[in-house]
Amino acid sequence: MTAPLQGALRYPAHRFVLGTFEVTTILDGTINMGVSPPFMLDESEDEIAVVAKEALIPSDQLENNFVPTLVNTGDALVLFDTGCGHYRRDKGAGFLRERLGDAGYAPEDVDVVAFTHVHPDHIGGVYEDGAFAFRNAELVIGRQEYTAWKSGERIPPQRAENREMFLEIIASQEDRLRFLDDGDDVVPGVTAEAAFGHSLGHMMYRIRSEDSEALIWGDVANHYVFSVGRPRSKVAFDDDKDMAIETRIRVLESAVAESTLIIGFHMPFPSIGYVEREGEGYRWLPATYQVRL
Ligand SMILES: [Zn+2]
Repeated sequence: MTAPLQGALRYPAHRFVLGTFEVTTILDGTINMGVSPPFMLDESEDEIAVVAKEALIPSDQLENNFVPTLVNTGDALVLFDTGCGHYRRDKGAGFLRERLGDAGYAPEDVDVVAFTHVHPDHIGGVYEDGAFAFRNAELVIGRQEYTAWKSGERIPPQRAENREMFLEIIASQEDRLRFLDDGDDVVPGVTAEAAFGHSLGHMMYRIRSEDSEALIWGDVANHYVFSVGRPRSKVAFDDDKDMAIETRIRVLESAVAESTLIIGFHMPFPSIGYVEREGEGYRWLPATYQVRL
């Protein structure tokens, strides 16, 4: 008797130890966008095809993956971004909350939810079935990000629905909110850094424990080939495209110089790696056993 065919399989949780902290990435889901990539907007289709071919990926469709991170410092369990929630569950993403169990956590274990920014794939999971999804958690957000979305000024018109969502599920949580500026700590060992551009107040989070360090870069670069490889190209998802490019180069340069361990929300799951310089751009190097030694 032959074992039945069962289709592709991917375990949705991954954990490594950083100093005395534990860092878990969880696959909220993937969505096959089925269109040519919304990256390299200022480049020709032919150029996009060349870049895709070099990386052995298709140029006419793209799998976007969504990867929130949990950091357990021993004193606090901090969740960075909440995935898509029910908004995109029919499309294949929005499973963070049920997959927390695969990593050994329950939603009520989360002490702090820290947002890199408030685009739908980062805040969608914060509210489920008409209630706050992480009932014991404080919500932490960049002050500039909050102010920009609250006022609505300079929010691009295509983000109008996104703004409604922000007002409904984030701005309404007033008693849970704490605001951060560049350099402020989320909890000891976790520091917010300004990385504006992808959204007007986008933040990154630097994690430090003993001699180890990692950077949760959110959406500073949001595709491991098109965006990391061609960081100077405009990206449809970036709300302030020029500022996003400036930030992307600054962060990539520093990550190369410091050999920083990166945790990237849209990098291929488990979404941890390094960057190195390559040609005019950079190359994503997935982390392997060096994070386990
Ligand atoms: Zn995103």
